[in-house]
Amino acid sequence: MAVLLTGGTGYIGSHTAVCMLEAGYDVVIADDLSNSAADVADRIRQITGRDLRFYQIDVSDRAAVRALFDENDIDAVIHFAGFKAVGESVREPLKYYRNNLDTTLTLLEVMAERNVGVFIFSSSATVYGDRNPAPYTEDMETGRCSNPYGWTKEMIERILESACVADGNLSAVALRYFNPIGAHESGLIGDDPNGIPNNLMPFITQTAAGIRERLSVFGDDYPTPDGTGVRDYIHVVDLAKGHVAAYRYACDHKGFEAINLGTGVGYSVLDIVKTFERVNGVRVPYVIAARRPGDLASVYSDPSKAKALLGWETEKSLEDMCRDAWNYQKNRL
Ligand code: NAD
Ligand code: UDP
Repeated sequence: MAVLLTGGTGYIGSHTAVCMLEAGYDVVIADDLSNSAADVADRIRQITGRDLRFYQIDVSDRAAVRALFDENDIDAVIHFAGFKAVGESVREPLKYYRNNLDTTLTLLEVMAERNVGVFIFSSSATVYGDRNPAPYTEDMETGRCSNPYGWTKEMIERILESACVADGNLSAVALRYFNPIGAHESGLIGDDPNGIPNNLMPFITQTAAGIRERLSVFGDDYPTPDGTGVRDYIHVVDLAKGHVAAYRYACDHKGFEAINLGTGVGYSVLDIVKTFERVNGVRVPYVIAARRPGDLASVYSDPSKAKALLGWETEKSLEDMCRDAWNYQKNRL
């Protein structure tokens, strides 16, 4: 028996592969390498001392996915593969709807053919839209997403819900991630965006490394304690462990569940900058800039459902996140 991780050489998928292998499960990765590198599979082997099978395929390619299922005894799918750049999704919406929806539908169809009934999906806090006050709970109304990327997550949650209604043997868990940052403590895997980073932490590490001149802090006039945006940052290894817990839960249950994966604590942009500087003994030059369109003031989770259903909660601190993110950046230099 093995668990298929689509997008498993990407940032969150690679950390989850490590945690699944360390927990004793066999792992098969399918990734088209559109946003990751082939050597990540070797790094996962190096960290864990265990082997895994890697397929370089597009998971919307039905024939390729069928062949993968023919060659492996897959009992569950953890579906990370997809495009995730918010701004690009506004410029190229069809590319996002096509890739994110097609991959999901293809996997669900092949799973149904093979009687595979466990599906874990990478959803996002973005499904809570702009009308709910933080902390977000899973019973809040979702939708009203501010960009096509967010809509793909919302639509896929609805697809999973419908599929579970129709097929009583299916178990689907949508994990709503908050803001994953940090890296594995080995420094061998981490967040490796192409080009200029959109997200805060990779921009900070590249600024500290001198690759970027300074960080632009997007807005200091939000209704938050220091005026800068507040987010629920979660260490990627804690997030990865949440997938192991969700897999175990889904194997014993049927139906659809949406579950937040966050710490429940919000930190501001300046909290992150100051902690990063203190923990790592480096400077992160910054300027205050205009708000980024579409950003919300304050986004953080109520993580109590994950604790109740999965028995999971975060263990790592903001200091751990900042130290491990910088360790990975230094390793790459
Ligand atoms: P990532 O880009 O590092 O990983 C995604 C992987 O999927 C990449 O390796 C890419 O090559 C692969 N991929 C894309 N399309 C594919 C296809 N058609 N077939 C096969 N492989 C394909 O992204 P990540 O940060 O690891 O995110 C993983 C998932 O979590 C994504 O679905 C993303 O939307 C979601 N998510 C991420 C965040 C975040 O902040 N990183 C937050 C919420 C949700
Ligand atoms: N942010 C910033 N400068 C940057 C990137 C991000 O000030 O170069 C802020 C952003 O406005 C938000 C927080 O950092 O308040 C987290 O942004 P990110 O893009 O990492 O995640 P998001 O919550 O938008 O998905």
